[in-house]
Amino acid sequence: MNAALEALPVRDDLRGKQPYGAPQLPDAIQLNVNENPHAPSASFVADLAAAVGQAATTLNRYPDREAVALRTDLAGYLSGRTGVALGVEQVWAANGSNEVLQQVCQAFGGPGRLALGFEPSYSMHPLLAAGTSTGWVAERRAADFTLTADQAVAAVTRHRPAITFLTTPNNPTGTVIGLDVVQAVHDATDGVVLVDEAYAEFASTPSAVTLLDRCPRLIVSRTMSKAFAMAGARVGYLAASPAVVDALRLVRLPYHLSALTQAAARVALAHADELLGTVEQVKAQRDRMVREIPASGLRVVPTESNFLLFGPFDAPAQVWQALLDHGVLVRDVSGGPGLAGWLRVNAGTEAETTAFLDALKDVT
Ligand SMILES: *Cc1c(COP(=O)(O)O)cnc(C)c1O
Repeated sequence: MNAALEALPVRDDLRGKQPYGAPQLPDAIQLNVNENPHAPSASFVADLAAAVGQAATTLNRYPDREAVALRTDLAGYLSGRTGVALGVEQVWAANGSNEVLQQVCQAFGGPGRLALGFEPSYSMHPLLAAGTSTGWVAERRAADFTLTADQAVAAVTRHRPAITFLTTPNNPTGTVIGLDVVQAVHDATDGVVLVDEAYAEFASTPSAVTLLDRCPRLIVSRTMSKAFAMAGARVGYLAASPAVVDALRLVRLPYHLSALTQAAARVALAHADELLGTVEQVKAQRDRMVREIPASGLRVVPTESNFLLFGPFDAPAQVWQALLDHGVLVRDVSGGPGLAGWLRVNAGTEAETTAFLDALKDVT
Protein backbone atom coordinates (compact mmCIF):
# COMPACT_ATOMS: atom_id res chain seq x y z
CA MET A 1 0.00 0.00 0.00
CA ASN A 2 1.13 3.57 -0.59
CA ALA A 3 1.73 5.85 2.37
CA ALA A 4 -1.42 7.96 1.96
CA LEU A 5 -3.59 4.84 1.78
CA GLU A 6 -1.70 3.37 4.72
CA ALA A 7 -2.56 6.50 6.74
CA LEU A 8 -6.31 6.04 6.21
CA PRO A 9 -8.43 4.07 8.68
CA VAL A 10 -8.85 1.26 6.14
CA ARG A 11 -10.07 -2.10 7.48
CA ASP A 12 -7.18 -4.05 9.04
CA ASP A 13 -7.92 -7.12 6.92
CA LEU A 14 -7.52 -5.10 3.71
CA ARG A 15 -4.12 -3.60 4.61
CA GLY A 16 -1.32 -4.83 2.35
CA LYS A 17 -3.73 -6.36 -0.17
CA GLN A 18 -3.28 -5.70 -3.91
CA PRO A 19 -6.25 -4.76 -6.13
CA TYR A 20 -7.11 -6.89 -9.18
CA GLY A 21 -5.11 -5.35 -11.99
CA ALA A 22 -4.55 -7.06 -15.33
CA PRO A 23 -2.84 -4.52 -17.64
CA GLN A 24 -5.17 -2.72 -20.08
CA LEU A 25 -3.12 -1.73 -23.15
CA PRO A 26 -5.54 -1.00 -26.02
CA ASP A 27 -2.72 -0.54 -28.57
CA ALA A 28 -1.46 -4.10 -28.11
CA ILE A 29 -2.98 -7.32 -29.43
CA GLN A 30 -4.86 -8.11 -26.24
CA LEU A 31 -4.80 -11.81 -25.43
CA ASN A 32 -4.56 -11.45 -21.65
CA VAL A 33 -8.09 -11.39 -20.17
CA ASN A 34 -9.81 -14.21 -22.09
CA GLU A 35 -12.20 -11.97 -23.99
CA ASN A 36 -13.91 -13.06 -27.19
CA PRO A 37 -11.88 -11.26 -29.91
CA HIS A 38 -14.86 -10.90 -32.25
CA ALA A 39 -16.54 -7.48 -32.02
CA PRO A 40 -20.35 -7.34 -32.27
CA SER A 41 -21.86 -7.26 -35.77
CA ALA A 42 -23.43 -4.06 -37.15
CA SER A 43 -26.92 -5.60 -37.12
CA PHE A 44 -26.56 -6.67 -33.49
CA VAL A 45 -25.30 -3.21 -32.54
CA ALA A 46 -28.30 -1.65 -34.29
CA ASP A 47 -30.77 -3.91 -32.44
CA LEU A 48 -29.01 -3.21 -29.15
CA ALA A 49 -29.03 0.54 -29.73
CA ALA A 50 -32.77 0.43 -30.48
CA ALA A 51 -33.50 -1.54 -27.30
CA VAL A 52 -31.31 0.71 -25.16
CA GLY A 53 -32.99 3.73 -26.75
CA GLN A 54 -36.38 2.32 -25.86
CA ALA A 55 -35.25 1.69 -22.27
CA ALA A 56 -33.96 5.26 -22.12
CA THR A 57 -37.48 6.62 -22.56
CA THR A 58 -38.31 5.49 -19.02
CA LEU A 59 -34.98 6.17 -17.32
CA ASN A 60 -36.72 8.47 -14.82
CA ARG A 61 -38.05 5.24 -13.26
CA TYR A 62 -36.03 2.64 -11.40
CA PRO A 63 -35.46 -0.58 -13.35
CA ASP A 64 -37.24 -3.84 -12.59
CA ARG A 65 -35.58 -4.73 -9.30
CA GLU A 66 -36.14 -8.42 -9.96
CA ALA A 67 -35.01 -8.31 -13.61
CA VAL A 68 -37.75 -10.83 -14.34
CA ALA A 69 -37.71 -10.54 -18.13
CA LEU A 70 -33.93 -10.92 -18.29
CA ARG A 71 -33.88 -13.82 -15.81
CA THR A 72 -36.64 -15.53 -17.80
CA ASP A 73 -34.55 -15.21 -20.96
CA LEU A 74 -31.44 -16.47 -19.13
CA ALA A 75 -33.39 -19.47 -17.81
CA GLY A 76 -34.52 -20.23 -21.35
CA TYR A 77 -30.98 -19.96 -22.68
CA LEU A 78 -29.49 -22.17 -19.97
CA SER A 79 -32.29 -24.73 -20.32
CA GLY A 80 -31.63 -24.89 -24.04
CA ARG A 81 -27.90 -25.40 -23.51
CA THR A 82 -28.13 -27.98 -20.72
CA GLY A 83 -31.43 -29.75 -21.32
CA VAL A 84 -32.45 -28.96 -17.72
CA ALA A 85 -35.81 -27.23 -17.29
CA LEU A 86 -35.15 -24.07 -15.24
CA GLY A 87 -37.66 -21.53 -13.95
CA VAL A 88 -37.05 -17.83 -13.46
CA GLU A 89 -37.02 -18.40 -9.69
CA GLN A 90 -33.86 -20.55 -10.12
CA VAL A 91 -31.87 -17.90 -11.98
CA TRP A 92 -30.24 -14.73 -10.66
CA ALA A 93 -28.35 -12.01 -12.53
CA ALA A 94 -25.97 -9.18 -11.63
CA ASN A 95 -23.27 -6.90 -13.04
CA GLY A 96 -20.84 -9.56 -14.19
CA SER A 97 -20.44 -12.93 -12.55
CA ASN A 98 -18.00 -11.22 -10.20
CA GLU A 99 -20.95 -9.42 -8.60
CA VAL A 100 -22.87 -12.70 -8.49
CA LEU A 101 -19.92 -14.31 -6.68
CA GLN A 102 -19.63 -11.35 -4.34
CA GLN A 103 -23.30 -11.67 -3.43
CA VAL A 104 -22.76 -15.38 -2.72
CA CYS A 105 -19.87 -14.44 -0.40
CA GLN A 106 -22.04 -11.79 1.29
CA ALA A 107 -24.94 -14.16 1.83
CA PHE A 108 -23.08 -17.36 2.73
CA GLY A 109 -19.64 -16.18 3.90
CA GLY A 110 -18.67 -13.35 6.23
CA PRO A 111 -16.67 -13.06 9.46
CA GLY A 112 -15.91 -16.38 11.14
CA ARG A 113 -16.66 -18.38 8.00
CA LEU A 114 -14.33 -19.97 5.47
CA ALA A 115 -14.29 -20.20 1.70
CA LEU A 116 -12.23 -22.99 0.11
CA GLY A 117 -10.63 -23.05 -3.33
CA PHE A 118 -8.37 -25.42 -5.25
CA GLU A 119 -5.41 -23.49 -6.59
CA PRO A 120 -4.19 -22.48 -9.01
CA SER A 121 -7.56 -21.00 -9.89
CA TYR A 122 -9.32 -17.69 -10.48
CA SER A 123 -7.54 -14.97 -8.51
CA MET A 124 -10.78 -13.09 -7.83
CA HIS A 125 -12.21 -15.83 -5.60
CA PRO A 126 -9.84 -15.04 -2.67
CA LEU A 127 -10.25 -11.29 -3.30
CA LEU A 128 -14.06 -11.55 -3.12
CA ALA A 129 -13.69 -13.57 0.07
CA ALA A 130 -11.40 -10.89 1.52
CA GLY A 131 -13.76 -8.08 0.56
CA THR A 132 -16.57 -9.77 2.50
CA SER A 133 -14.35 -10.68 5.49
CA THR A 134 -14.70 -14.35 4.63
CA GLY A 135 -11.67 -16.45 5.55
CA TRP A 136 -9.84 -18.05 2.62
CA VAL A 137 -8.23 -21.46 2.60
CA ALA A 138 -6.62 -22.99 -0.48
CA GLU A 139 -5.73 -26.56 -1.33
CA ARG A 140 -3.38 -27.40 -4.17
CA ARG A 141 -4.42 -29.21 -7.31
CA ALA A 142 -2.26 -32.08 -8.59
CA ALA A 143 0.85 -31.17 -10.62
CA ASP A 144 -1.17 -31.61 -13.85
CA PHE A 145 -3.80 -29.21 -12.39
CA THR A 146 -6.50 -31.90 -12.09
CA LEU A 147 -8.67 -32.47 -9.02
CA THR A 148 -10.08 -35.81 -7.91
CA ALA A 149 -13.21 -36.42 -5.84
CA ASP A 150 -11.12 -38.04 -3.08
CA GLN A 151 -8.81 -35.04 -2.81
CA ALA A 152 -11.67 -32.54 -2.87
CA VAL A 153 -13.76 -34.41 -0.31
CA ALA A 154 -10.76 -34.73 2.01
CA ALA A 155 -10.25 -30.95 1.84
CA VAL A 156 -13.91 -30.16 2.48
CA THR A 157 -14.00 -32.58 5.41
CA ARG A 158 -10.86 -31.03 6.91
CA HIS A 159 -11.78 -27.34 6.53
CA ARG A 160 -15.59 -27.39 6.78
CA PRO A 161 -15.97 -24.35 4.48
CA ALA A 162 -19.17 -22.32 4.19
CA ILE A 163 -18.42 -21.88 0.48
CA THR A 164 -16.45 -24.23 -1.78
CA PHE A 165 -15.32 -22.86 -5.16
CA LEU A 166 -14.92 -25.30 -8.05
CA THR A 167 -13.96 -23.72 -11.37
CA THR A 168 -14.49 -25.68 -14.57
CA PRO A 169 -13.02 -25.11 -17.07
CA ASN A 170 -10.53 -23.72 -14.60
CA ASN A 171 -8.87 -20.36 -15.04
CA PRO A 172 -5.88 -20.13 -15.61
CA THR A 173 -5.23 -23.81 -16.35
CA GLY A 174 -8.08 -24.63 -18.80
CA THR A 175 -8.57 -28.02 -17.15
CA VAL A 176 -12.02 -29.41 -16.29
CA ILE A 177 -13.50 -31.03 -13.18
CA GLY A 178 -15.79 -34.05 -13.47
CA LEU A 179 -19.39 -33.92 -12.26
CA ASP A 180 -18.48 -36.80 -9.91
CA VAL A 181 -16.24 -34.32 -8.04
CA VAL A 182 -19.01 -31.71 -7.81
CA GLN A 183 -21.53 -34.25 -6.54
CA ALA A 184 -19.07 -35.70 -4.00
CA VAL A 185 -18.11 -32.27 -2.67
CA HIS A 186 -21.75 -31.25 -2.34
CA ASP A 187 -22.56 -34.41 -0.41
CA ALA A 188 -19.53 -33.94 1.88
CA THR A 189 -20.23 -30.34 2.94
CA ASP A 190 -22.95 -28.45 4.80
CA GLY A 191 -21.93 -25.29 2.95
CA VAL A 192 -22.75 -24.09 -0.52
CA VAL A 193 -20.76 -25.33 -3.52
CA LEU A 194 -20.14 -22.74 -6.19
CA VAL A 195 -19.24 -24.12 -9.61
CA ASP A 196 -17.80 -21.26 -11.66
CA GLU A 197 -18.62 -22.11 -15.29
CA ALA A 198 -17.46 -18.83 -16.87
CA TYR A 199 -16.03 -20.76 -19.84
CA ALA A 200 -18.66 -23.51 -20.15
CA GLU A 201 -19.60 -22.64 -23.74
CA PHE A 202 -16.07 -23.57 -24.88
CA ALA A 203 -16.05 -26.97 -23.14
CA SER A 204 -17.32 -30.36 -24.26
CA THR A 205 -18.06 -31.49 -20.69
CA PRO A 206 -21.61 -31.46 -19.24
CA SER A 207 -22.72 -28.56 -17.02
CA ALA A 208 -23.15 -28.86 -13.26
CA VAL A 209 -26.65 -27.44 -13.90
CA THR A 210 -27.59 -31.09 -14.54
CA LEU A 211 -26.96 -31.78 -10.82
CA LEU A 212 -29.19 -28.99 -9.46
CA ASP A 213 -32.27 -31.13 -8.78
CA ARG A 214 -30.15 -33.48 -6.63
CA CYS A 215 -28.03 -30.79 -4.93
CA PRO A 216 -29.95 -28.08 -3.02
CA ARG A 217 -26.79 -26.19 -1.99
CA LEU A 218 -25.24 -26.18 -5.46
CA ILE A 219 -24.77 -22.84 -7.26
CA VAL A 220 -23.63 -22.66 -10.89
CA SER A 221 -22.35 -19.28 -12.07
CA ARG A 222 -22.03 -18.15 -15.67
CA THR A 223 -21.13 -14.97 -17.51
CA MET A 224 -21.84 -13.14 -20.75
CA SER A 225 -18.26 -11.78 -20.70
CA LYS A 226 -16.51 -14.63 -22.47
CA ALA A 227 -18.22 -16.79 -25.12
CA PHE A 228 -21.05 -14.24 -25.48
CA ALA A 229 -18.58 -11.48 -26.38
CA MET A 230 -20.26 -9.02 -24.00
CA ALA A 231 -17.51 -8.28 -21.46
CA GLY A 232 -18.17 -4.56 -21.72
CA ALA A 233 -21.84 -4.92 -20.78
CA ARG A 234 -21.14 -6.54 -17.37
CA VAL A 235 -23.70 -9.33 -17.11
CA GLY A 236 -23.27 -12.48 -15.04
CA TYR A 237 -25.82 -14.94 -13.70
CA LEU A 238 -26.28 -18.12 -11.76
CA ALA A 239 -28.59 -21.08 -11.48
CA ALA A 240 -29.46 -22.53 -8.07
CA SER A 241 -32.44 -23.48 -5.94
CA PRO A 242 -35.13 -20.81 -5.43
CA ALA A 243 -34.08 -20.65 -1.76
CA VAL A 244 -30.52 -19.69 -2.72
CA VAL A 245 -31.90 -16.94 -4.95
CA ASP A 246 -33.99 -15.69 -2.02
CA ALA A 247 -30.83 -15.55 0.11
CA LEU A 248 -29.12 -13.38 -2.50
CA ARG A 249 -32.03 -10.92 -2.42
CA LEU A 250 -31.04 -10.18 1.20
CA VAL A 251 -27.67 -8.76 0.16
CA ARG A 252 -28.14 -7.32 -3.34
CA LEU A 253 -28.35 -3.56 -3.63
CA PRO A 254 -31.82 -2.38 -4.65
CA TYR A 255 -32.04 -1.94 -8.44
CA HIS A 256 -28.51 -3.27 -8.84
CA LEU A 257 -28.94 -4.10 -12.55
CA SER A 258 -29.58 -0.98 -14.62
CA ALA A 259 -32.43 -0.82 -17.14
CA LEU A 260 -29.83 -0.29 -19.88
CA THR A 261 -27.91 -3.39 -18.88
CA GLN A 262 -31.05 -5.49 -18.70
CA ALA A 263 -32.14 -4.31 -22.15
CA ALA A 264 -28.70 -4.92 -23.68
CA ALA A 265 -28.44 -8.40 -22.18
CA ARG A 266 -31.85 -9.39 -23.51
CA VAL A 267 -30.87 -8.32 -27.02
CA ALA A 268 -27.67 -10.38 -26.70
CA LEU A 269 -29.70 -13.43 -25.64
CA ALA A 270 -32.03 -12.92 -28.60
CA HIS A 271 -28.88 -12.98 -30.78
CA ALA A 272 -27.34 -15.90 -28.92
CA ASP A 273 -26.87 -18.04 -32.04
CA GLU A 274 -25.03 -15.25 -33.81
CA LEU A 275 -22.85 -14.28 -30.83
CA LEU A 276 -22.02 -17.88 -29.92
CA GLY A 277 -21.33 -18.56 -33.60
CA THR A 278 -17.85 -17.20 -32.89
CA VAL A 279 -17.14 -19.94 -30.36
CA GLU A 280 -16.14 -22.46 -33.04
CA GLN A 281 -13.74 -19.93 -34.59
CA VAL A 282 -12.22 -19.22 -31.19
CA LYS A 283 -11.83 -22.94 -30.46
CA ALA A 284 -10.20 -23.46 -33.87
CA GLN A 285 -7.57 -20.82 -33.01
CA ARG A 286 -7.09 -22.38 -29.57
CA ASP A 287 -6.56 -25.80 -31.16
CA ARG A 288 -4.13 -24.24 -33.59
CA MET A 289 -2.09 -22.86 -30.67
CA VAL A 290 -2.18 -26.30 -29.03
CA ARG A 291 -0.72 -27.79 -32.23
CA GLU A 292 1.80 -25.08 -33.05
CA ILE A 293 3.22 -23.92 -29.71
CA PRO A 294 5.10 -27.22 -29.17
CA ALA A 295 7.02 -26.41 -32.40
CA SER A 296 8.75 -23.71 -30.33
CA GLY A 297 9.96 -26.44 -27.96
CA LEU A 298 7.33 -25.56 -25.33
CA ARG A 299 4.49 -27.39 -23.63
CA VAL A 300 0.82 -26.47 -23.38
CA VAL A 301 -1.60 -27.66 -20.71
CA PRO A 302 -4.63 -29.54 -22.12
CA THR A 303 -7.49 -27.04 -22.28
CA GLU A 304 -11.28 -27.03 -22.65
CA SER A 305 -11.46 -23.23 -22.66
CA ASN A 306 -10.61 -20.29 -24.93
CA PHE A 307 -7.13 -19.90 -23.39
CA LEU A 308 -4.20 -22.08 -22.45
CA LEU A 309 -1.08 -22.17 -20.31
CA PHE A 310 2.21 -22.36 -22.20
CA GLY A 311 5.76 -22.75 -20.95
CA PRO A 312 7.45 -23.52 -18.72
CA PHE A 313 9.98 -20.69 -18.92
CA ASP A 314 13.00 -20.01 -16.72
CA ALA A 315 12.28 -16.29 -16.96
CA PRO A 316 8.55 -15.89 -17.72
CA ALA A 317 8.49 -12.16 -16.97
CA GLN A 318 11.15 -11.58 -19.63
CA VAL A 319 9.23 -13.65 -22.19
CA TRP A 320 6.06 -11.69 -21.30
CA GLN A 321 7.91 -8.41 -21.91
CA ALA A 322 9.51 -9.68 -25.13
CA LEU A 323 6.05 -10.67 -26.46
CA LEU A 324 4.74 -7.22 -25.52
CA ASP A 325 7.70 -5.65 -27.35
CA HIS A 326 6.33 -7.55 -30.38
CA GLY A 327 2.92 -5.98 -29.71
CA VAL A 328 1.26 -9.02 -28.11
CA LEU A 329 -0.13 -8.82 -24.57
CA VAL A 330 -0.45 -12.16 -22.75
CA ARG A 331 -0.95 -12.86 -19.04
CA ASP A 332 1.95 -13.48 -16.70
CA VAL A 333 0.41 -15.88 -14.19
CA SER A 334 3.79 -17.29 -13.13
CA GLY A 335 3.59 -15.71 -9.67
CA GLY A 336 0.52 -17.76 -8.79
CA PRO A 337 0.51 -20.93 -6.67
CA GLY A 338 1.85 -23.92 -8.64
CA LEU A 339 2.31 -21.76 -11.74
CA ALA A 340 6.04 -20.99 -11.69
CA GLY A 341 7.28 -20.64 -15.28
CA TRP A 342 3.86 -20.52 -17.00
CA LEU A 343 2.23 -17.81 -19.11
CA ARG A 344 -1.41 -17.73 -20.25
CA VAL A 345 -2.73 -16.68 -23.63
CA ASN A 346 -6.26 -16.63 -25.00
CA ALA A 347 -7.24 -17.40 -28.57
CA GLY A 348 -7.60 -14.31 -30.73
CA THR A 349 -8.85 -13.82 -34.26
CA GLU A 350 -6.89 -15.79 -36.84
CA ALA A 351 -4.68 -12.74 -37.53
CA GLU A 352 -4.09 -12.07 -33.82
CA THR A 353 -3.27 -15.70 -33.15
CA THR A 354 -0.83 -15.68 -36.07
CA ALA A 355 0.83 -12.57 -34.65
CA PHE A 356 1.19 -14.28 -31.28
CA LEU A 357 2.62 -17.50 -32.73
CA ASP A 358 5.09 -15.55 -34.89
CA ALA A 359 6.16 -13.45 -31.91
CA LEU A 360 6.58 -16.55 -29.79
CA LYS A 361 8.86 -18.17 -32.38
CA ASP A 362 10.88 -14.99 -32.42
CA VAL A 363 11.38 -14.69 -28.66
CA THR A 364 12.02 -18.34 -27.80
C1 LIG B 1 -13.65 -14.08 -16.51
C2 LIG B 1 -14.11 -14.91 -15.37
C3 LIG B 1 -15.29 -14.59 -14.72
C4 LIG B 1 -16.17 -13.53 -15.29
O1 LIG B 1 -16.23 -12.37 -14.71
P1 LIG B 1 -17.34 -11.29 -15.12
O2 LIG B 1 -17.46 -10.51 -13.88
O3 LIG B 1 -18.59 -12.03 -15.46
O4 LIG B 1 -16.78 -10.56 -16.28
C5 LIG B 1 -15.74 -15.39 -13.69
N1 LIG B 1 -15.04 -16.48 -13.32
C6 LIG B 1 -13.90 -16.81 -13.93
C7 LIG B 1 -13.19 -18.05 -13.52
C8 LIG B 1 -13.40 -16.03 -14.95
O5 LIG B 1 -12.25 -16.36 -15.54
